[in-house]
Amino acid sequence: MTPQKILLIILDGASDRPVDGATPLQSAKKSNLDALAKNGICGIMDTISPGVPPGSATAHLAIFGYDPYKYYTGRGPFEAAGVGLEVRKGDVAFRCNFATARDGKIVDRRAGRIRDTKELEKAVNEGVDLGIEFQFRAGTAHRGALLLRAPGLSSDVTPTDPNKEGVPAGRTKATSKKGEKTARIMNDFTAQVAKVLDKHPINKKRASEGKSPANILLLRGAGVVPHIPPFEEKYGLRSAAVAAAGLIIGIARICRMNFIPTEGATGGLDSNLDNKIKNASDALDKYDFVMLNIKGADEAGHDGDFKAKTEFIGKIDDALGRLPRREDILTVVTADHSTPVSVKNHSGDPVPLIISGNGVRVDGVEKYDEINCARGGLNRLRGMDLMPILMDLLGKGKKFGE
Ligand code: ZN
Ligand code: ZN
Repeated sequence: MTPQKILLIILDGASDRPVDGATPLQSAKKSNLDALAKNGICGIMDTISPGVPPGSATAHLAIFGYDPYKYYTGRGPFEAAGVGLEVRKGDVAFRCNFATARDGKIVDRRAGRIRDTKELEKAVNEGVDLGIEFQFRAGTAHRGALLLRAPGLSSDVTPTDPNKEGVPAGRTKATSKKGEKTARIMNDFTAQVAKVLDKHPINKKRASEGKSPANILLLRGAGVVPHIPPFEEKYGLRSAAVAAAGLIIGIARICRMNFIPTEGATGGLDSNLDNKIKNASDALDKYDFVMLNIKGADEAGHDGDFKAKTEFIGKIDDALGRLPRREDILTVVTADHSTPVSVKNHSGDPVPLIISGNGVRVDGVEKYDEINCARGGLNRLRGMDLMPILMDLLGKGKKFGE
């Protein structure tokens, strides 16, 4: 039978460079991923374009078939959607940090890694009046997002987050005439928030306990919310996303995928992979396209921890072994970018890719890693090529010409 549905598994940052002759993927125990490679067609993929280190957001957009150069307008809108704010085209959104200021200087950019900030969120939303519509939403730990809604807003502003400690903070400047209104509102917001937070009982208590008070909100990643055509409209596929990282959830939401929360999913090395894989697999009953993002390997890559990365890939593989076999789906495994442990950041190296399912031209590749997949039948693709190939395998390709 022709496959009807797609399970797209994105092993965030799993791709790497060799250390002492082997990459974490080459070193990991991964019989299930290798079996998928053996029964599928493989290749390598430049999610943006050759040599360009992708961010997670731009890479995911490209893999979903949205040109990131057109639709990625900054991190703010995606973070805002990720924490559950209802973003609309033209809104300006920011990432926020609760931080600690003393005598006008930032002394702790994470406010002592404060945990529960819901009460502070409420105080900000109730106590600040900007004369325009706005919403602040706290995220995990010290993080959050801010959304401004008014005519004439722009992202032509500098961040109020100095990205280091021991320096003054809290004022933004417009970088063009267009940004002046937004800069005024941001400075007003910052000043009012400082007053609200300063007198808040939570902060009084924190100060008396010798903890850093969360007495300022820093803004960065300004972006104008783009209009992104909904995934279902673009492909005619009902779609869902299983993910834990706020940014990835935000991308899924902005593309109007249905977000399915998972108990125990953390986005880290301690995430409950069984629950995530079960959720994704169950979602295939209801949806035609399910994206599963597993984040941990990226974290280990940023930490430069080869062993943790290799072991985590082994854990993913083990959990994938419990994925039920289905005749009606295409299973796709890839990464959004490489996060080499030797680089501790994203690199421009292409990522390995498998498409497995009925109808694919199985090639001779028997292992899922950066080196073996480079010999596969898909050769070398760009991220934007993936969805057309998958649509064609579903029998839904659009014929060009007669
Ligand atoms: Zn990523
Ligand atoms: Zn990363």
